Amino acid sequence: MTSSAPGDTSTDIHTTPRLLIIGAPGAGKGTQAVRLAEAYRIPAISTGDIFRSNVKNETELGKQAKAFMDAGDVVPDSLTNALLRSRLAEADADSGFLLDGYPRTVQQVGELDDILAGQGVTLDAVIELDADPEVVVDRLRTRAGLEGRSDDTEEVVRHRLTVYREQTEPLIAIYGDRNLLVTVDALGEVDEVTARITEALARVGIVVAPDTAVGTAAN
Ligand code: ADP
Repeated sequence: MTSSAPGDTSTDIHTTPRLLIIGAPGAGKGTQAVRLAEAYRIPAISTGDIFRSNVKNETELGKQAKAFMDAGDVVPDSLTNALLRSRLAEADADSGFLLDGYPRTVQQVGELDDILAGQGVTLDAVIELDADPEVVVDRLRTRAGLEGRSDDTEEVVRHRLTVYREQTEPLIAIYGDRNLLVTVDALGEVDEVTARITEALARVGIVVAPDTAVGTAAN
């Protein structure tokens, strides 16, 4: 066990983590990412959200990405990698981050390795949100009605699941081999899943920022 005097930040060995969250479309990555970012005091960086806001604002990047997104295909690396590289270079990602939606392909794993090596840092853990594909299709059908995302139609959802299986699922084995994988059951209440993730991360030594821990009476 490690410890430091309360309030003594100069010798506090606690650092904010560098995390990835991986899972099938509809597994709840975005929902959990926002909550985890708050708990660990790190920015949640979602490539899907960045692309969607570019589409909405009709930027050049958005115009180029839109057709791929609407079809449920991955946006080409030529557009995605530069975007991620510049986002990770921003100051708020200096001491930690939670990436949601990147890397999505084996090639992007190599790109991320390269970016992090350039910064002299490494990943702390990769969260796998594990969910039954039939359940996620159902969730996405509901979300299509609620949010009107153009890539949530039944046909596109099925295609996104296939793309996930073919291109993203191999990442699970890669990060498993690196001993970074923390697998969590994605089914259940949102709070329950968040608690499962934070507990699983705590078991590998990644703990929430002390002053955000529930029940602390700091100050
Ligand atoms: P999902 O519900 O599948 O997790 P996201 O919100 O992460 O969806 O992404 C939506 C779409 O944005 C994807 O289908 C893809 O077209 C594009 N996209 C997001 N991240 C990436 C990435 N890392 N590489 C390529 N395309 C991406």
